[in-house]
Amino acid sequence: MLGPPGAGKGTQAERFARKHALPKISTGDILREAIHAGTELGRSAKATIYAGGLVSDDVMIGIVGQRLGQPDAARGFVLDGFPRTVTQATALDGMINGRGPLVVVDITVPEEVLLRRLAARRICGSCGVTAQVDWITTCGNCGGDLKHRRDDNEAVVLERLKVYHRETLPIVEFYAARPTFRTIDGNQPPDIVTSAMDKAICQASALTGEAHA
Ligand code: ADP
Repeated sequence: MLGPPGAGKGTQAERFARKHALPKISTGDILREAIHAGTELGRSAKATIYAGGLVSDDVMIGIVGQRLGQPDAARGFVLDGFPRTVTQATALDGMINGRGPLVVVDITVPEEVLLRRLAARRICGSCGVTAQVDWITTCGNCGGDLKHRRDDNEAVVLERLKVYHRETLPIVEFYAARPTFRTIDGNQPPDIVTSAMDKAICQASALTGEAHA
């Protein structure tokens, strides 16, 4: 799943994964959990993430390669936040080789909408659910405290968007000519995006078989 920060990748990946009983593999969540747990990965990636930069390709390719080898990913999976560079996209092709089609969905949203969404985005400190709120302070899912993500402050958001344009947008070109590439308008109500995405992925994967999104 491709798209800039705030495009709705996480929310939509979660919904699609639940509906089709596939694991959602979010590299942002994996890194935040590592920071929270104080692992070596978390300690080394923390400064980069809070500054809005990208964790190195080698580290990310290692993490995802290992995760895709786990049994729950054998039937398919939804990837959120990876690939983020052309080097990662090339490595993903190698990992997918012989495992069925890679369906790529690019969610597009105008920049002014992204900035508004990220300013209002909160994350639950307990269960990690994301919400769009300015005034509610507790999570509707588990009752935990909602917090502003540390990398959602304005300066870091601008840096993340810059990094997105420089490092991640070229991936769209990398995938655009493939028959399993789809673009979705993410500037619509979440439920509309969900059904558009579901339709697009099922149609694209039917071209060649199973669904890996
Ligand atoms: P976003 O809202 O920007 O999509 P994510 O939760 O996907 O945020 O990622 C948060 C941060 O984790 C990124 O800004 C980056 O520092 C790091 N990160 C996540 N995935 C990758 C990746 N594939 N390659 C490099 N860095 C990554």
